[in-house]
Amino acid sequence: MKKMLLWVLIGLLLFLATGSAPAWAQEDATLSVQFFSIGKADALLITTPDGSRILIDAGTNKNGKALAQRFRKEGVEDIDLMIITHFDKDHVGGADQILDECSVARVLIPVYAKESKQHTQFMEALGRSAGTQVTEMGQKETLELDFGAVHLGVTSAHELDYGWDEENDFSLATRLVYGKTRFFFTGDAEGPRQRELLEEGDVACDVLKVPYHGREVEVSEEFLSACAPKIAWIPDSQEEPVGEAVVQYLKEQLGASVYRSAEDGDLTVRSDGERVWTAEE
Ligand SMILES: [Zn+2]
Repeated sequence: MKKMLLWVLIGLLLFLATGSAPAWAQEDATLSVQFFSIGKADALLITTPDGSRILIDAGTNKNGKALAQRFRKEGVEDIDLMIITHFDKDHVGGADQILDECSVARVLIPVYAKESKQHTQFMEALGRSAGTQVTEMGQKETLELDFGAVHLGVTSAHELDYGWDEENDFSLATRLVYGKTRFFFTGDAEGPRQRELLEEGDVACDVLKVPYHGREVEVSEEFLSACAPKIAWIPDSQEEPVGEAVVQYLKEQLGASVYRSAEDGDLTVRSDGERVWTAEE
């Protein structure tokens, strides 16, 4: 009895000291996904109920600096997994600064030839980051990973060549399942890759990171209606706004709540395994 009283006292002291219940007293089984509003660029952070952190893309070089600062302020020091969907500068540009700032356990990248300043800086940062395990995903590979009760399935491009200037179709795609809820992160998949994702199987999800900054491709309607998300995130900018047709289709045909980085700012979506909701709900 005395022992229990002691624990209650310790808990109370911790509560008073930190303003919240100590971790062991919390029954917080909430998953959160923070979509960062950084213009026409991608970066999102998943925090699982067991405290694992998964970063998908790191925005541009400039975004990377701001993200690294933000992570420092918020005490985000360890990242369990960083997925770089592809090597365009609005996805890989900030990754070197995240690698320099945080301890990143593992990095997933696609395999294709790339020559750019941002890619070189990323590779150099990986070279400096001795503790980071790098997994390259070649043609048509699947990787299944578990973070507590959260399951991730990552797939890579089916082809070795998508023609000139078609790097977007090398985007790694990530399906996240937590309880009854599903999230789908699609990088910049254009028509050919969206078709592959449809072929890979069920794409139905509650939350969709809309592919290719919401630009319309020939398969958009088929792809979006198969996903049928409740919540859709589109990382666009004032200068390069999303195609209206895609927004209209998501809202009017599919009844989705659409959030655009150019208009809505950051978005946090949470799941308790039963349902998903946004911060303002
Ligand atoms: Zn992009």
